[in-house]
Amino acid sequence: MSDTIEKVKCLIIGSGPAGYTAAIYAARANMAPVLYQGTQPGGQLTTTNEVENFPGYPEGITGPEMMMELQKQASRFGTDIRDGWVTRVDFSGDVHRVWVNDHKEIHCDSVIISTGASAKYLGLVSEQKYLKLGGGVSACAVCDGFFYRNQEVVIVGAGDSACEEAHYLSKLCSKVTMLVRRDVFRASKIMANRVKNTKNIEILFNTETEEVLGDGQVVTGVKVKDNVTGEVKTIPATGFFVAIGHKPNTDIFKEYLDLDKTGYIINKPGTSKTNVEGVFVSGDAADHVYRQAITAAGTGCMAALDAERYLAAKEAPVEA
Ligand code: NDP
Repeated sequence: MSDTIEKVKCLIIGSGPAGYTAAIYAARANMAPVLYQGTQPGGQLTTTNEVENFPGYPEGITGPEMMMELQKQASRFGTDIRDGWVTRVDFSGDVHRVWVNDHKEIHCDSVIISTGASAKYLGLVSEQKYLKLGGGVSACAVCDGFFYRNQEVVIVGAGDSACEEAHYLSKLCSKVTMLVRRDVFRASKIMANRVKNTKNIEILFNTETEEVLGDGQVVTGVKVKDNVTGEVKTIPATGFFVAIGHKPNTDIFKEYLDLDKTGYIINKPGTSKTNVEGVFVSGDAADHVYRQAITAAGTGCMAALDAERYLAAKEAPVEA
């Protein structure tokens, strides 16, 4: 139980590009935003090495650096940025109740959810090693494909994302080997056919990753096993892409907010509004399609503007 309940006008949950952008706009609109950073301050971008597709950085910038810049910008206008993890919410009443680290209770006039999504990985030790080193493991072809121009890469997955990303990579890389663990795709026919009809994509069905191989710094190949014949072989590659799905970080909201079957928050089309008045969503928590830093930032801006209008209408209702 908390000793004192804090009142907050605008609470922002999450600290990726969506959360920080919402904070910049909310702070500049005198909404006195409080932002909780969560367990991975900076969000998914902090696991990315170089960001070269965010407008305004002609020379590129590393993910962690960009997040520090965004944090500084949000602080500059007065955002109260705090460590802490939101563990529980209650959106059943007029005042939205939020608990941080299970004990601190906050009553919010408006809430902006920017909790993002987490890419799923296979969980192999070797995969995690080269992911942490920034040495050739990635869960985002659009972000990182460019670094593998004219090189050979491997991609794991058989859904629409894997097909889309394999196709994207095929335009940059000399060869893309796609590892499908069953003998069929999960992806829609049209997406699967596009991959099947692309010359420099080789599809290996019934194939699982045993180990991501490297020289201690960067990826050099992938050891794979045919799960029908038992044959093990090594595929030379400098990049290992994982496209086996994402998990939106929305579990704590499921009792109150409309979510789709994967757990993405459903927003009202063209807005950041959720099914609960005064609760807004931005970034990957509601986006399974684009999932880019720039789109997250854009929807962060939308959420702050929607929250500002909501608060203004609440404080000074327009007479009918
Ligand atoms: P999905 O959950 O649809 O597919 C995940 C894929 O990864 C499956 O093929 C699954 O294999 C495979 N996989 C999971 N775990 C492992 C593992 N440990 N080893 C090897 N393979 C594994 O995720 P997506 O991200 O592809 O798509 C999510 C949603 O977004 C879907 O509804 C999709 O239709 C939609 N989407 C639509 C797009 C479009 O229309 N342009 C583009 C991208 C996504 P298995 O099949 O064996 O379970």
